[in-house]
Amino acid sequence: MDTFGHTNTGNLALVNPLQTRGTVAPVLPENLGPRVLELASVLQTTLDIEMQINLFGKEIQRYLSVDGLGYTLPNNETRFLYGREASERATYALVLHDNSLGSIRVFRDLPFAEHELSSLENLLCALIYPLRNALTYKQAVEMASRDPLTGVQNRLALSNALTREIDLARRQGQKLSVLVIDIDHFKSFNDKFGHTFGDDVLVAISQTIANTVRRCDLLYRFGGEEFVVLTSHTGVDGARLLAERIRENVAAMQTVRGRSVDLTVSIGVAGLAAKDTEQRFFDRADKALYQAKSDGRNRTVLG
Ligand code: GH3
Ligand code: MG
Ligand code: MG
Repeated sequence: MDTFGHTNTGNLALVNPLQTRGTVAPVLPENLGPRVLELASVLQTTLDIEMQINLFGKEIQRYLSVDGLGYTLPNNETRFLYGREASERATYALVLHDNSLGSIRVFRDLPFAEHELSSLENLLCALIYPLRNALTYKQAVEMASRDPLTGVQNRLALSNALTREIDLARRQGQKLSVLVIDIDHFKSFNDKFGHTFGDDVLVAISQTIANTVRRCDLLYRFGGEEFVVLTSHTGVDGARLLAERIRENVAAMQTVRGRSVDLTVSIGVAGLAAKDTEQRFFDRADKALYQAKSDGRNRTVLG
């Protein structure tokens, strides 16, 4: 390993919690063994990845002076930084049983000495299993909040998001609107073409809605053939325009899996009002949806 350049790169392939293969000598320098176990038990106190990285950054300061720590998740999309970046860096791919656990980068103004890198690699062993558990937990939470048919978020996720988005809108003095969307006469559609084709229609409509809303709008499958959109920074007028675009785009769908379709949706819309509870906010949009149904369907009604 090059300790004089700006970057040290290693592949931390774990054989067991106290040994690494390749870059690290089998005998632990400075007898870090008990400390590695101690550190692992500290890291195991949380399943929150960001908290683990912060704890790891704080705890390793007892053995090694570092200026910062960057962790990138296996999908490369999220990154956490503890402390700050600096010119010298040691980078490790974290691998367990051939599964990537992401990569970690340790920053420092001063170059790392070889024995410091050895200590760091041993300390990293303490992170592997707690981090694997935290990543598995994160994946399980994500799966539990996703609808397996359409891939959009489900009712459980909506309930959490409503609480979070209402709180955020009130704190920031921002507008928030909700759209409740229900497919018209879907049951007869199912009866005529079969449940499997009904499923295809649900997927196609969820994609049409997803393609119509902004990236920051949140889409959920609320029930069998009902979808909900939460749109932040949007008042009821903007939400009505969005609802009309969704309604028009669904009505413009001509085929699903090569079969001609004639699909429409009804939509209820509500803007967050000062005295709204979570339930009341949602119910206003839901009542407006019922109004849209009884007014003849294929329309948008404001609650
Ligand atoms: P309306 O215009 O009043 O909304 O009529 P509708 O037929 O759409 O409403 P209704 O509530 O009577 O029926 C909804 C149907 O949605 C009944 C159910 O069979 C179907 N459904 C619910 N979940 C699924 C699903 O996951 N897949 C399929 N294919 N159908 C589903
Ligand atoms: Mg329905
Ligand atoms: Mg329906």
